[in-house]
Amino acid sequence: MKRAVISEGRRIEYTLIQSDRSNVLFQALPGAGIRVYAPKYMHLRDIDGMVRQRAAQLAEMQKSVEARLAADRRAHPVTDGSPILIEGRRRVLRLHEGARRAGRLVGEEYHLTLPEPDSDDAVRAAIRSTLSAVALKRIRQRLDYFAPRVGRAPGRVAIRDQKSRWGSCSRKGNLNFNWKLIMAPPQALDYVVIHELCHLWEFNHSPRFWALVEAQMPEYEVWKKWLKAHTDDLYM
Ligand SMILES: [Zn+2]
Repeated sequence: MKRAVISEGRRIEYTLIQSDRSNVLFQALPGAGIRVYAPKYMHLRDIDGMVRQRAAQLAEMQKSVEARLAADRRAHPVTDGSPILIEGRRRVLRLHEGARRAGRLVGEEYHLTLPEPDSDDAVRAAIRSTLSAVALKRIRQRLDYFAPRVGRAPGRVAIRDQKSRWGSCSRKGNLNFNWKLIMAPPQALDYVVIHELCHLWEFNHSPRFWALVEAQMPEYEVWKKWLKAHTDDLYM
């Protein structure tokens, strides 16, 4: 849930995630803002109050994660010859100058054409846009495969540049997927596709939900753990 509070003239937006936990955790994510994890029973005004109290500290946390990301990008620019993970395999990025953005997988190389191959930002944006198209195609194929098996069809399917999630399911049954799933091993992508499809039966993470996932993919925990271990790659 998105929320916002005003403290000393400063507006602080945050995403609230309430669950069975017993304490409150504040987290700053690059590009994704402040997250607050709080117990289910806590009143919103109390949580808002805690955020207001920590306004300066949270702003500082946010600034420091953004600065770390920027420094990391400067230290590791994406250039011709850089490694790039596609479908769980390490490939080599090859850059070409051309009027139109296009990406093509040739053996173990990913050939990327764009107008400004010398700009790190432009290269990152071209990787994102070309691989998003590949991701959408692959995800649609896997949805077509698994939807009849799960016994539910999704509504709208979209690729999002989500900062901290691999996939999500809305109450209306629309599914969103992170484009970076195309970097993960195919089984990890399948796991997320199955996970979101199973939410069309169970809009929760109950034992009944996990039984549905397991019925489709008995070894799902392996890929669930893989994705958890690679969440940091979402900030590439
Ligand atoms: Zn879920």
